Amino acid sequence: MKTGRQHRESLRDGRSVYINGGLVSDVTEHQAFRRSIDTVCTLYDTAWDERNRDLMTCLNEGGVPINRIWQLPRSHADLVERRKALEFWGMQHAGFFGRSPDHVASCIAGMYMGLDVFAEADTARAGALADYYRHASEADLFLTYVIINPQGELADPDSPSPRRIAASVVDQGPSGIVIDGAKMLASGGVMANEVLVTCIQPLAPGEEALAFSAVLPMNATGLRILSRKSYEEHAGCVFDSPMASRFDENDAVLVFENVTVPWERVFVHNDRALCAKQFFATPAHVYQNYQAMIRLKTKLTFLVGLGRKIAQVNGTERFPQVREILGQLAADVGMLDAMVAGMEVKGSHYGPYFIPDRHSLYAAQAITQTLYPRFIEQLRTLSGGGVIMLPSSVEDMENPEIMKWISRSQASPVMDAADRVKFFKLAWDCIGSEFASRHTQYEMFYAGASFVPKNHSFRTFDWDRATGVVDRMLASY
Ligand SMILES: Cc1cc2nc3c(=O)[nH]c(=O)nc-3n(C[C@H](O)[C@H](O)[C@H](O)COP(=O)(O)OP(=O)(O)OC[C@H]3O[C@@H](n4cnc5c(N)ncnc54)[C@H](O)[C@@H]3O)c2cc1C
Repeated sequence: MKTGRQHRESLRDGRSVYINGGLVSDVTEHQAFRRSIDTVCTLYDTAWDERNRDLMTCLNEGGVPINRIWQLPRSHADLVERRKALEFWGMQHAGFFGRSPDHVASCIAGMYMGLDVFAEADTARAGALADYYRHASEADLFLTYVIINPQGELADPDSPSPRRIAASVVDQGPSGIVIDGAKMLASGGVMANEVLVTCIQPLAPGEEALAFSAVLPMNATGLRILSRKSYEEHAGCVFDSPMASRFDENDAVLVFENVTVPWERVFVHNDRALCAKQFFATPAHVYQNYQAMIRLKTKLTFLVGLGRKIAQVNGTERFPQVREILGQLAADVGMLDAMVAGMEVKGSHYGPYFIPDRHSLYAAQAITQTLYPRFIEQLRTLSGGGVIMLPSSVEDMENPEIMKWISRSQASPVMDAADRVKFFKLAWDCIGSEFASRHTQYEMFYAGASFVPKNHSFRTFDWDRATGVVDRMLASY
């Protein structure tokens, strides 16, 4: 386990982060990242805090206290305990850190639970994974991952010499493998300690060089971290953009320039089948996405609360049509809440470990991917122009003369003008700002384009039960 201060210190490691045309010397001090890094540090402090010890920590198999994000649940009760810890963490950022440290920790924990799958293919690689799980969990590392190839990869498959831009293994030797090429899209990468680099997409024969799985530190020699535009940097003060200024987890393209990864950090090498199995034949994919659903539940709970307050502030709550919208949003949140509980209740054992129900998880993902943009649209419907008729910045409010007019124009039945401005600036940053728009894109795509979770749902559904009902009906007449 570590404190926030220790995490902040760990990011001063000479990593190569590029933004606005230059190399960043210290991400913890840079205005594009520093407040969001503070948020991550707060998460670690919250877990470290004596008052939260029972909630946030457990003992590992060797009796060492670890953050519950790394826990390996052995029963339904363990799974629920772990979920409560994840919910508590998620509450600190209202679910707006998509790739908070519990996401990839869940993936690695799931891979470790499926160590046999790795061992069947290569005992040395399985040993590397087992050692890494112990190391990462005891050091409480913040991991991000890049598991998707950039969109340009093989966009021209019929060309005689298709472009290859995805990271692949270009060399190997006694000291390890050498990776060269690019990967999208390391959310949280700027503020993480290490990155899992692999490929979750199906690979064709001949693409063995792309079929690897390895972890490396964010300051590895030759690793370039190319940040997107920072919303935090453009947010101004916290009052004007309370979400973007503090919860911009960042997304970065990673470019690997002949980066060497030692064998003890390589889990899959030159093996297309194992590359897929590491996610789907172990509990990894279920665990990482179960975390995502817990986080989303927290986010939607926050957003439905925002919706109710929007109606209260606007004095529209009394209209039946408005209650209908709020009722639908509440039903959506209730559904996800029940689905997470369902994943747990319908869970089963995988060896000694307890795993959330696979199909319930994929059903929730398929549904929520399209639900999120509709949810946001309904909040915008409730808002009207209130989220736009706002002072340009807090500086307007610091000028007594302008404040006089703001007070006259921003009246609400339930809040004074200053509180109403504060509230609607929060609402806009959640539903309409550039930061908010990135969140809609995130929820629509983090688990793959919409056909991906739907195909997982198709693959894992109990079709025999469903078609059996049809057969019974047919046989009845
Ligand atoms: C904000 C954000 C954060 C992200 N963070 C991470 C991260 O931390 N780590 C990581 O590894 N990845 C991350 N990603 C990447 C994410 O996993 C991918 O965006 C996702 O898998 C979809 O792949 P893609 O972007 O290449 O879209 P594409 O696969 O190109 O899909 C885009 C659209 O093209 C069409 N399309 C594509 N293929 C087909 C097909 N076969 N049949 C029919 N239509 C098709 C569909 O309309 C689809 O919606 C992130 C993405 C976003 C937006």
